[in-house]
Amino acid sequence: MSTATETTVAETAAAVPMSYRFFTASVVRTERLSPSFLRITLTGPDMAGFGFAGDDQRFKLILANGGASVADLLASAGPDWYARYCAMPEDSRPYLRTYTARAFRPEVAELDVDVVLHGIAEDGTPDPHAGPAATWAATAVPGSEVVLLGPDRPGTGRMWGVEWAPPVEADTLFLAGDETAVPAIAGIIENLTGGQRVVAVLEVPGAADFLSLRLPPGVDVRWLARGSRARGELMEPAVHKALTELGIARPASGAEVEDVEDEMVWEVPEAGAHTRCYAWLAGEAGVVKALRRRLVRDLGVDRDSVAFMGYWKVGARG
Ligand SMILES: Cc1cc2nc3c(=O)[nH]c(=O)nc-3n(C[C@H](O)[C@H](O)[C@H](O)COP(=O)(O)OP(=O)(O)OC[C@H]3O[C@@H](n4cnc5c(N)ncnc54)[C@H](O)[C@@H]3O)c2cc1C
Repeated sequence: MSTATETTVAETAAAVPMSYRFFTASVVRTERLSPSFLRITLTGPDMAGFGFAGDDQRFKLILANGGASVADLLASAGPDWYARYCAMPEDSRPYLRTYTARAFRPEVAELDVDVVLHGIAEDGTPDPHAGPAATWAATAVPGSEVVLLGPDRPGTGRMWGVEWAPPVEADTLFLAGDETAVPAIAGIIENLTGGQRVVAVLEVPGAADFLSLRLPPGVDVRWLARGSRARGELMEPAVHKALTELGIARPASGAEVEDVEDEMVWEVPEAGAHTRCYAWLAGEAGVVKALRRRLVRDLGVDRDSVAFMGYWKVGARG
């Protein structure tokens, strides 16, 4: 079991320096998928070398921030880029945000990113608390330029930025997440080849955000419309129900769950575990943390078979 915050760029840089690099790209088109989701399609000559592996593969979006330009960051590209990045003044260094590569079409070097428009009014106006990534997405037009940090080699199997790694013998798969995890869950589900029992629980702001997905046979997707309820309020009972139906929940283990109060929970089973069940949960850190406690302490779920990932945290930037 590895436990870490998601911001493991520095560690990754040290461990596998050649597996990712900077890419320059520009917006080809945008498409409003629903009230909360905007699909941005990026391309550029550089993007032909983007190493897309599918599933929940993440990458970093790098956005200019006042003083320090993205060009400043690119100028410092190299194995020690992260140290240089951290040395830039905090209030003017480029923003680094994590997104999921929803789809990639190598023949045209196009990457789709489905961005949640949090803090953006229906007419596209950002409110004062909207983050730079959501604001950038809401105002992006064809030709808008951006820099990405992503894998530089196509391939299969587990590679940088991919956490979905069910054991080969797993015949029961469970996924749950909020709107920020919908692109990852959609990518994972669409890659499944069938033969397993699969349930996915997706909590999104409203029923109009229930996206249409390409579902392989036997995949049961349960959308939840949050409405005015608290985040995770619908998710918790739905997760409990699904895990019970799938036989993943067992009598309470009473296992101690150490606190991760100030951390963005990120706990992923080591590759190579041998379990018949595999679960993957991502979304707002407090909700994921509560689910982690419930699953491990109250539902007897084997921690070696669950990936818990805080994708963002209420009140925290980046
Ligand atoms: C592996 C991974 C994959 C991800 N994939 C996607 C993806 O494909 N699509 C996607 O939209 N997001 C995705 N996210 C989440 C995304 O990185 C965060 O939502 C990020 O904080 C958005 O950056 P920002 O600049 O808009 O806001 P920030 O500057 O980070 O935050 C500004 C304020 O907005 C709040 N906030 C941030 N995100 C949300 C939200 N979704 N809803 C409500 N309030 C929010 C923060 O708490 C803060 O108060 C992913 C995260 C991870 C770790």
